[in-house]
Amino acid sequence: MTHPAQPKASHFINGAYVEDTSGTPIPVIYPATGELIATVYAATPAIVEQALASAAAAQKEWAKWTGTERGRVLRRAADIIRARNHELSVLETYDTGKPLQETLVADATSAADALEYFGGLAGSLTGEHIPMGDNWVYTIREPLGLCVGIGAWNYPTQIACWKGAPALACGNSMVFKPSETTPLCALKVAEILCEAGAPAGLYNVVQGMGEVGGALVTDPRVAKVSLTGSAPTGKKVYAAAAAGMKHVTMELGGKSPLIIFDDADLESAISGAINGNFYSSGQVCSNGTRVFVQKGIKEKFLTRLAERVKAGAVLGDPQDEAVNFGPMVSENQMNIVLGYLEKGQAEGARLICGGKRAEMDGFFIEPTVFADVTDEMTIAREEIFGPVMSVLDFDSEDEVIARANATEFGLSAGVFTRDFARAHRVIGQLEAGSCFINSYNDAPVEAPFGGVKASGVGRENSKEAIKHYSQVKSVFVRMGDCEAAF
Ligand code: NAD
Repeated sequence: MTHPAQPKASHFINGAYVEDTSGTPIPVIYPATGELIATVYAATPAIVEQALASAAAAQKEWAKWTGTERGRVLRRAADIIRARNHELSVLETYDTGKPLQETLVADATSAADALEYFGGLAGSLTGEHIPMGDNWVYTIREPLGLCVGIGAWNYPTQIACWKGAPALACGNSMVFKPSETTPLCALKVAEILCEAGAPAGLYNVVQGMGEVGGALVTDPRVAKVSLTGSAPTGKKVYAAAAAGMKHVTMELGGKSPLIIFDDADLESAISGAINGNFYSSGQVCSNGTRVFVQKGIKEKFLTRLAERVKAGAVLGDPQDEAVNFGPMVSENQMNIVLGYLEKGQAEGARLICGGKRAEMDGFFIEPTVFADVTDEMTIAREEIFGPVMSVLDFDSEDEVIARANATEFGLSAGVFTRDFARAHRVIGQLEAGSCFINSYNDAPVEAPFGGVKASGVGRENSKEAIKHYSQVKSVFVRMGDCEAAF
């Protein structure tokens, strides 16, 4: 019997599901059991062409709609997503293995937030009037054209909408390629946008690996590329886009610091460290995986943290709402993380809890805490993308700021302290794009999200995203005669 997660076809192009089984098969594995639940096929060159051609054609018409009309479609799509939240969350859980307890409140819902927010902004996107004495200049905020979105596997519905919603609001069209690890959810987004009244071809989804992504990025019809992925992929995609002088948004990886001063509320700081390391089983780009704890509270922090992790983490079938800790997205990702667990111990970190694969079906790894981690250890330098928290100790504010910044990455940073002057002083000096004070990993659509240094270029969400999906034409208007030297 066909599993309910199996989509009608692999791709969604020009307003309809499209199949082409001559592409490379992509098995979809439920990470909680290892069972095959669906198969899709990578896009062939003919499928890529169909998607790009229909997106290019749809964009020309869509750009003629008023902003209010465009916004209405996005807001309708948000309403449909909210009405179907349960069913979409179940699918997200099949796609990623993240617990339903999480997906019910974080995935389709945040996708709906993005559609609603950018739908609301669409009608207010305007240029400006610049008086120049008798003459004047006006500006027109124009769409970029055909945009390509390429997703990572950790938040497939959210990523599809964090890219699609601002792109469409500004009058662009999109071809979105989900991660080959989680190909299912973006198809639903495309289907729902059509149901909400988006013209055929405006938002298309094609499946495939890096090769398909590469074909999209280098096509001359494409004006912009927005990638969510790892830093190495980001460097390749950025370079390929640069060759065609295309706009980019790069949402890449991180190794973010979470700094806990000894005056912090201990339970609250531990909650921050748990949210910043174990939500989505640690598969979150902005995670605060280097937890710097001031020496005075170190042992108290570790004891209480271990108690809370051991008592609180409920591993099991992610479709069971009582479960709050799911598997790694894939066997491959599980093996990568297991490699880091070995390295952490081999390089001398002290294991506080976890440290191994859980004894059950699926790709589960126990929530793991290492203490006595030093800046040089591999687990303190490389992005692990799994449930592995590294606790490092520090003495002074200046020392911890310097150590926190000593990384190629700069996505996020957090500070826990009761001293607000210190909180702002420290955050002001941290090299990161998305920061938190006495909290961790909040990502409301109203706030800009993105990184500095090797963590990326550009911002998603908020009014900032509009700048990355539109360009400004300026028009000088002379009211009198135009004069020349000869
Ligand atoms: P990945 O870099 O392996 O792949 C990301 C996407 O790029 C996939 O869809 C993949 O098929 C595609 N791709 C790979 N090579 C390509 C190429 N040459 N040209 C075009 N496309 C290509 O990343 P992943 O393993 O899917 O996701 C995990 C990574 O994503 C982590 O590093 C994580 O930190 C990052 N991430 C960042 C954010 C953010 O917003 N900053 C959010 C989630 C995940």
